[in-house]
Amino acid sequence: MTMREAKINLMGLSLAKMQAFFLELGEKPFRASQTLKWIHQRGVIDIDTMTDISKPLREKMKSVAEIRLPHITQELRSADGSCKWIVQVESGSSVEMVFIPEAGRGTLCISSQAGCSLDCSFCATGKQGFNSNLTVAEIIGQLWWANQKLAGFGVKPAQEWSEDGKPAQNPRPVSNVVMMGMGEPLLNFENVMDALSLMMEDQAYGLSKRRVTISTSGVVPAIDRLKDFTDASLAVSLHAPNDELRSELVPINRKYPIKELLRSVSGYMDTLSDRRVPVIEYTLIAGVNDHRQHARELAVLLKDFPCKINLIPFNPFALSDYRRPSSSSISNFRQILHEAGYTVTVRTTRADDIGAACGQLVGEVGDNTRRSQRYRDAAEAQRENDQQGGVEHNSETAAGVTGKRFSSADNLAVVIEKPSRPSV
Ligand code: SAH
Ligand code: SF4
Repeated sequence: MTMREAKINLMGLSLAKMQAFFLELGEKPFRASQTLKWIHQRGVIDIDTMTDISKPLREKMKSVAEIRLPHITQELRSADGSCKWIVQVESGSSVEMVFIPEAGRGTLCISSQAGCSLDCSFCATGKQGFNSNLTVAEIIGQLWWANQKLAGFGVKPAQEWSEDGKPAQNPRPVSNVVMMGMGEPLLNFENVMDALSLMMEDQAYGLSKRRVTISTSGVVPAIDRLKDFTDASLAVSLHAPNDELRSELVPINRKYPIKELLRSVSGYMDTLSDRRVPVIEYTLIAGVNDHRQHARELAVLLKDFPCKINLIPFNPFALSDYRRPSSSSISNFRQILHEAGYTVTVRTTRADDIGAACGQLVGEVGDNTRRSQRYRDAAEAQRENDQQGGVEHNSETAAGVTGKRFSSADNLAVVIEKPSRPSV
């Protein structure tokens, strides 16, 4: 290992770990808040420019630490104002993050892993297999970069900041974070927890706990531990009203069936100090889980479970046989739930032109898992077949504007939400 790699990366230290770092150096813990503010509020990644820290201390810091960010290798801006960035992490893999501006808020969808081991049948990230866990610096670095790219906070001169370190005008455009990018956040538990704490830490990004959401496919033991680490909001990827169907779509259900999952989610929600409810995510796939009967069954399943329901029309990707339901079956499904008394939203795809919709993102992930290889082989075989049969293969379908040969599309779920309306 080189000296450079051996240095501590301050980008990934939560407040508690930053305090421990300064204690170790024989310094006072208040240095931790100073440093967090420089990095996460002023966007400073050069220790030498932290002017309220003495030169000798800066030298001491530099001898053991540095500030490393993941690399942005590509930026795509959509006509609708959304942005997508391809982020290269230290393991060599790439992940994606997407920013969606809406009236009154800006949502950033962040990845927690390169690939995913859980292999949900409708998810392109699952087709890649698992590549690596992102480090804390790589997770929080996505938020840092979004702020930098969107508002340029890193170049704000120090005099624009008042004495308490707060900007005269908050220049930060990201008001909401959803852990709905690539990967299962609860399978990268410690790193995701530290990154969440930085998102919600006043000395760092100061986002409200209501505006930071973990999305999980249902890793029950991890949900059971959540309350000891965070009070962020929770979204649960349910996708089916019964165990038989859910086990087909979300294989982790075989290990942690619906009843256990709902019990565990209720347990977490009960520990929160306010009256937040979880969001139940339900990807609607034509002919698979979108029948009226499924909606009725779902209404019964959740009748004693306070929640909001978010319907996500399936976003197709290469080699998936699944299809998106028609708008009438989406609205029928919504209507049944609405009449049963649920608050239901339907995600409307944004950023189609940059391939950033749910399940459409492209991550040229340098993985070598067998699952990914099988997927690539199958994609190649299909392409050859198409060519032989005179069918023009439309690489845009899944690879979006980057036109990559293999779409390892993921599942970013950043979208406009339309509340359901009562029928008249
Ligand atoms: N692993 C976590 C978070 C990432 S997935 C989870 O599964 O919850 C974010 C959301 O996008 C999940 O609800 C997921 O089920 C959904 N999703 C994945 N692929 C999709 C696709 N092709 N179309 C629509 N939604 C998809
Ligand atoms: Fe993993 Fe979530 Fe995709 Fe399932 S839906 S494979 S848990 S990223």
